[in-house]
Amino acid sequence: MSNDTQTNRSNSLARTAAELCAVTRMLEAMNILSYSGHIAVRIPERNALMIQRRTDSRNELVPERMLLVDFDGKVIEGDGKPPSETAIHIEAFKARPDVMASIHSHMELAIAFTMMDGVQLLPMRARATRWKSGIPTHPDPSHIKHMSQGRELARTLGPHHVALMRAHGLLLVAESLPALFTDSVHFEENAQAQMQVMQAGAKVKPLSDKEIEDILALEDRPHHIGKLWNYYIRKGVNAGTVEKEWNLLS
Ligand SMILES: [Zn+2]
Repeated sequence: MSNDTQTNRSNSLARTAAELCAVTRMLEAMNILSYSGHIAVRIPERNALMIQRRTDSRNELVPERMLLVDFDGKVIEGDGKPPSETAIHIEAFKARPDVMASIHSHMELAIAFTMMDGVQLLPMRARATRWKSGIPTHPDPSHIKHMSQGRELARTLGPHHVALMRAHGLLLVAESLPALFTDSVHFEENAQAQMQVMQAGAKVKPLSDKEIEDILALEDRPHHIGKLWNYYIRKGVNAGTVEKEWNLLS
């Protein structure tokens, strides 16, 4: 491998680490992550994923402390232990080659929808077309400590972009870290919208199939992701949540 190729690879890894830290810190600031929950990103050239250390605070992550973990759960770069539920990400990445980034969150709104009899979280808002194929709920509320549990969760996820985990949280997947961030924001907005409708005592009226088709016909997903990225990274830099020297807008 030439020196230039090596430099490009390490630059790309550094950029990914900075994005991972920024997305984690921003979602923590929005209460989508808290003292627990984590994000992973696939590193194809290393056949591994990047994830934070188990004990690092979600609002203080720095790129230099990120770990590379192989698909057996072994740390191949960096010091420290990955989060105890890393099997969630490993098995999702193994089952879904299209997935490049994943979040496991204990989002309270998501959990609430797994504890209501006869209520299903549905695509309500225009940006919820992402979940038109369905929002399945994994029936096992246990914490995911073993690869076999991760495989079961990946089976519940199936071809969908999110799975709720009963009385526990969610797994949401996307094609990149900025896309994962965007989807996490919209997933929370959508759950909030349905909860508000229900709290008002009204009948839930989700998007119809025809409405979803019409919205998607006009959707420019890369543009929309770029728009949110630009807005939230700038907001994060101004608030001190995101480090300016990470250069995430260039
Ligand atoms: Zn969990």
